[in-house]
Amino acid sequence: MAVTRTFSIIKPDATRRNLTGAVTKMLEEAGLRVVASKRIHMTRDQAEGFYGVHRERPFFNDLCTFMTSGPVVVQVLEGENAVQRNRDIMGATNPANADEGTIRKSYAESIEANSVHGSDSDENAKIEIDFFFSPDEIVG
Ligand code: UDP
Repeated sequence: MAVTRTFSIIKPDATRRNLTGAVTKMLEEAGLRVVASKRIHMTRDQAEGFYGVHRERPFFNDLCTFMTSGPVVVQVLEGENAVQRNRDIMGATNPANADEGTIRKSYAESIEANSVHGSDSDENAKIEIDFFFSPDEIVG
C-alpha cells in the first residue's frame, strides 16, 4: 500500500474544548503522521472557498459561520492509504451514525460541529493541501 497524504482540519468545536491533542493522538494512533500543522482563524473568504463544492447546499452558510467561529488546526497527514485511513478514524459525518472508537463518536457535538474534516479522495487531498499550505511548510 502506497504512502500518501491527506488534509485534516480540527474544527472550532474541538479547539474550543481544548481537544487538539486528543484528536491528534487518535490520528497518530491510527497510523497517520502529522507532517504539517498550523493553528489559524479562517476568514469568511477562506471558508467559502474551501467549502465551495457545498455552495448550493442548505447548510452552506451555517457551516461557513461555524468554521469561522473560532480557531482551527489545519494539518497534512501522511501514511499508508492516508485518505481512507483518516476517513475511517474520523467516523461518519453525523456522530449519531459514527462507529465506536472514531473521533466523531468520541467528540463531535452535532452533524455540523463534528470536530474534524478529512479529504474524501487523493485528488481533493492535493487541492485542499495546496489551499492552506505551501510546499516548504510540509516536512515529511
Ligand atoms: N454538514 C452540515 N450539515 C449536513 C451535512 C454536513 O452541517 O447536513 C457539515 C459538516 O460539518 C460536514 C461538512 O458539512 O463535516 C461537509 O459535509 P460532507 O458531506 O462533505 O461530510 P464530511 O466529508 O465532512 O464527512
